[in-house]
Amino acid sequence: MRYIIILSLLTFFGCGNNTENESKKEVPFGIVIHGGAGTILKKNMTPEMEEAYRTKLTEAIQVGHSILKNGGTSAEAVEKTIHVMENSPLFNAGKGAVLTAEATVALDASFMDGATQNAGAIAGVQHIKNPISAAIAVMNHSPHVMLSGKGAEQFAVTQGLDTVPMQYFITERRRKALEKLQSKTAFHSPEEQSFLKNSRYGTVGCVALDKNGNIAAGTSTGGMTNKKWGRIGDAPIIGAGTYANNNSCGVSATGWGEFFIRSVVAYDIAAQVEYKKTPIKEAAKNTLDKVAALGGDGGVIVLDKNGNVAMEFNTAGMYRAHMNKQGELDVKIYKN
Ligand code: ASP
Repeated sequence: MRYIIILSLLTFFGCGNNTENESKKEVPFGIVIHGGAGTILKKNMTPEMEEAYRTKLTEAIQVGHSILKNGGTSAEAVEKTIHVMENSPLFNAGKGAVLTAEATVALDASFMDGATQNAGAIAGVQHIKNPISAAIAVMNHSPHVMLSGKGAEQFAVTQGLDTVPMQYFITERRRKALEKLQSKTAFHSPEEQSFLKNSRYGTVGCVALDKNGNIAAGTSTGGMTNKKWGRIGDAPIIGAGTYANNNSCGVSATGWGEFFIRSVVAYDIAAQVEYKKTPIKEAAKNTLDKVAALGGDGGVIVLDKNGNVAMEFNTAGMYRAHMNKQGELDVKIYKN
């Protein structure tokens, strides 16, 4: 009997050590998302709206997290997570996108794979239900990186992606925002710029790190209200709105696109991390300071190869959420 007890104890502690060693070997994984940065103030938000955003952000990040937990790729996690936000009218991406000066939509999206540095993007599309999937298809099934307008839509059809009538994307809330802007301000006037500064938010983005150490990043947006002349922002531009590199980090940005393009935001952050070994939070702050110095504002999410996360912004708020390997969830809207 005594021998049996001793044997059982040895087996028990032996197993314990194995499990510990195995978990030590386990690589980190994690996921971070944003739903846009801007003048998001608690005083302008009803408890119901706040709850709706928190619930949708939680739903989106859980979709990606469970893919990663089950050994799926960061690419799949980013795509499926962004679908949840594109399909929700709450965000300025897919359904619920802001309207152009002609009261139409023109959707932009991009994706980058940190393992291969492959990338894909689409700009100015009006019928592709999930623009992020079209960006990924450009990467995987075309010799190009960026397609725009009608050509991008024809390509999406050849890929069997879902297309919808443009009306699908248009919501009452965005129609009212456009009407208010157009009735109160002249195009490109200082008043319009300040209105846009105070009403712009809702672009979505996601960065994920999978169990194989691969980072992927994606961004999807309707751009800015009242945009004209085929205006394209930073979101579909690799290096500005989106960037991923397994040697440094993945980044997705949201903010005043013109300033983010000029500051090459996403790559600027990754370059500091790669060349100077700057911690991601510090790198993100440095870059957003450069954006602010030019007169722009917005935010970024960053995830590095060790699973560290940064969610930085210089606006009043940014819809954002992070979930680590342990499944600990952090959902935030305002500063602090
Ligand atoms: N960056 C987007 C654009 O300029 C807008 C946003 O993120 O709010 O198109």
